[in-house]
Amino acid sequence: MNVPVTAHQEPAVEEIRTVEQTSCCIVGGGPGGAMLALLLARRGVRVALLEMHKDFDREFRGDTIHPSVMEILDQIGLADKLHEIPHTKVTGPTLQFANGPFRPFDLGRLKTRFPYILLVPQARFLEFITSEAAKYPQFRLVMRANVQQMVEENGVVCGVRYLAPDGLHEVRASLTVGADGRFSLLRRLAGFEPIKTSPPMDVLWFRLPKLPGEPEITGGLFGGIGRGRIFIMLERTDYWQAGLVFPKGQYQELRAKGVEAVRQSITEIEPRFARHAEYLTDWHQLTLLSVESSRCPRWHKPGLLLIGDAAHVMSPVGGVGINYAIQDAVVAANVLTTPLLSGRIPEADLAEVQRQREWPTRAIQAMQSFMQQRLVANALRAQRAVNVPWQLRLFFRIPILRDLPARMIAFGTRRVRLTEP
Ligand SMILES: Cc1cc2nc3c(=O)[nH]c(=O)nc-3n(C[C@H](O)[C@H](O)[C@H](O)COP(=O)(O)OP(=O)(O)OC[C@H]3O[C@@H](n4cnc5c(N)ncnc54)[C@H](O)[C@@H]3O)c2cc1C
Repeated sequence: MNVPVTAHQEPAVEEIRTVEQTSCCIVGGGPGGAMLALLLARRGVRVALLEMHKDFDREFRGDTIHPSVMEILDQIGLADKLHEIPHTKVTGPTLQFANGPFRPFDLGRLKTRFPYILLVPQARFLEFITSEAAKYPQFRLVMRANVQQMVEENGVVCGVRYLAPDGLHEVRASLTVGADGRFSLLRRLAGFEPIKTSPPMDVLWFRLPKLPGEPEITGGLFGGIGRGRIFIMLERTDYWQAGLVFPKGQYQELRAKGVEAVRQSITEIEPRFARHAEYLTDWHQLTLLSVESSRCPRWHKPGLLLIGDAAHVMSPVGGVGINYAIQDAVVAANVLTTPLLSGRIPEADLAEVQRQREWPTRAIQAMQSFMQQRLVANALRAQRAVNVPWQLRLFFRIPILRDLPARMIAFGTRRVRLTEP
């Protein structure tokens, strides 16, 4: 049998400690992979979920649960349980411009049981989803499973090999799903080249403490602009999640100026948070998000499907990366459950997942690109606080138009639903 292994080093067969057979092998326990595993396991599909880290706790990478995700969890009876995790709610940002505050979207007006973004630490969310999946005997989660190789037979992907603390293991499956995020190894091993766009900014994320006598923030999210920086604050249960947006390419310059420069930007943009900024004393308190936006022209090949950031990396505008990864998972479960149960997955079904998800992805990326060029880039170029363009103010005064951005952020171009809850 011809079994080429796509990898840096081909191991001797005796080095493989175990070989497991399953129906669907999902690489990556982020929002996309974990959700797909839950949805397949509850429909009786055998799933192995492989995650390279030892737990779900790591640096901040977005904690936003959008209305569409809550509606999907509601379909399977988990939305109320999700709300038991300590959370805050955001209905939309209040951006402070030179000519006054501006709210580019307000989810509070949407017709849904969940007219807000729920902020839940991503680690708690992933623990919740995987613990629900673990109630089904078909589900197996392997932590500290660092996938290193893809196994192919006669041009069909039929599994992966992962390195665990005790050595190399193999998982064979009718379908392998690459949900391994923005630096996807499976995407690279499959030879897929993403098309990249160039967002004009990067973001430094950090926490600020809550202090007595806090200013009230309408909508749970504040943004202010000044001197080539945008400062944003998201209200959390017991702290502020803060971000400083700056022009791409300036990280080294900012790093050289040190944490003092970050404190100074915060104080200049929003003096109400000057006291909070004093808590920033060390560069290690800051995490860089190198903002990217890309999408793969092709998300599949025989035996392999990419979802989430592996297929399309989202800019943080609107905070939709988690939402879109989960919507990909829902569509994949809708389309692929029956073929997976039968053990035969035609490539046309994998193409159908891409067909349903590609246009919503392109549409939101186009909207993000517009916002980045018209709002973010202009604000970052200016050396002072800028006015919000009058055309935008007008747009948001017209009732049938003003809720379009909120609907795009909450649901995308159309609501994704589980077809068989
Ligand atoms: C700093 C930061 C802030 C962000 N803020 C937001 C936000 O506010 N809202 C929002 O919606 N999105 C945000 N995002 C984007 C969001 O995190 C992603 O869009 C989303 O997590 C994508 O989900 P995913 O499941 O496709 O991939 P990921 O969440 O990236 O999950 C991929 C998983 O695969 C695992 N993995 C990778 N390689 C391997 C391997 N070889 N073997 C085994 N496991 C592997 C990783 O450990 C990871 O757990 C942010 C991202 C960053 C970096």
